[in-house]
Amino acid sequence: MTDRIRDFLRANRPDGPCLVVDLNVVRGNYQRFVRAMPDTRIYYAVKANPAPEVLNTLAELGSSFDTASVAEIQMVLATGAAPDRISYGNTIKKERDIARAYQLGIRLYAVDCVAEVEKVARAAPGSQVFCRILSDGAGAEWPLSKKFGCVPEMAPDVLEHAHHLGLVAYGVSFHVGSQQVNTEAWDSALASAAWVFRRMAERGIQLKMVNMGGGFPTRYLRQVPEVNAYGTSITNAVRAHFGNDLPETIIEPGRGMVGDAGIIKAEVVLISKKSEDDRVRWVYLDIGKFGGLAETMDEAIRYPILTERDADDKEPCVLAGPTCDSVDVLYEKTPYDLPISLEIGDEVLIEGTGAYTTTYSAVAFNGFEPLRAYVI
Ligand SMILES: *Cc1c(COP(=O)(O)O)cnc(C)c1O
Repeated sequence: MTDRIRDFLRANRPDGPCLVVDLNVVRGNYQRFVRAMPDTRIYYAVKANPAPEVLNTLAELGSSFDTASVAEIQMVLATGAAPDRISYGNTIKKERDIARAYQLGIRLYAVDCVAEVEKVARAAPGSQVFCRILSDGAGAEWPLSKKFGCVPEMAPDVLEHAHHLGLVAYGVSFHVGSQQVNTEAWDSALASAAWVFRRMAERGIQLKMVNMGGGFPTRYLRQVPEVNAYGTSITNAVRAHFGNDLPETIIEPGRGMVGDAGIIKAEVVLISKKSEDDRVRWVYLDIGKFGGLAETMDEAIRYPILTERDADDKEPCVLAGPTCDSVDVLYEKTPYDLPISLEIGDEVLIEGTGAYTTTYSAVAFNGFEPLRAYVI
């Protein structure tokens, strides 16, 4: 909780659930990434929080941007950032969207198979492509599936095909899983990337860039390592696997850039029990899985929750959202400790909600409006 957010909520008393994002925190995070990895270019993953104020602030600071759609590309261009600061990093693109991105000046694309290479070669001739390789996501609290990337052994063929079709086989990318709490998780993916570089060199094609993705964590209930620790570990791994022939490197932080910059203000709508002798109370908030807290799926992300009664004794509660869908329960397998004195109408503050909240909220499920955001 920052003083600026506290003052904003006090002065404005917004009605209904809302997210408040403090741009000073985003600025601090950006600068910490720069200091931790001074030789690495930063491509902010726009999907984490595409609020225009966030994009403008990062553009001013010199950030580049990782985008996943034409709409995200347009949001970044609206900041005045030149197209050479934007990558189209989604491996799943319609050919006509690639053509539109090419028209908008985008020349850097992700691929993970021959079919996608062929689309890029037709719709964005001469562009740079990097091949995404699979990573097992071990150690990540929000792991990514096999949906994106190919096995490293396949990448040389994908990149060579790109080369033959007139594209620039530019590099390799991976993502070690979101909310990655193991600072060493980049090591084995970098080993695979270096292997792909060597195989390509044997085929006479010099790759130049390694895109080390996102995964940098936000502090929720548990302490996480500092960005500096990631920087040291990643820099050492790059040197270990590439020796003196260091590639250009980029990172794509999303959560780590904006997660801790936001707080959601919500309200207790109901507190009840399911039977007279029920030991856990059910606490229903005016925000749930469909209002922006989708990352509580499988109770993966446990947000810190503040109330005005935190000095009082606490007891485990089931925490749920307000919609008429039974999956709209935030924490039940592992109940959440909340003050026994908590009452209907109390305000609660949900910390660490700057990433993956507004864009995950439904437009009008049950008539609830999408999560409002104030960026200050
Ligand atoms: C979502 C995404 C990111 C951001 O991941 P975080 O874990 O939020 O840092 C980075 N790169 C790609 C390609 C992504 O899809």
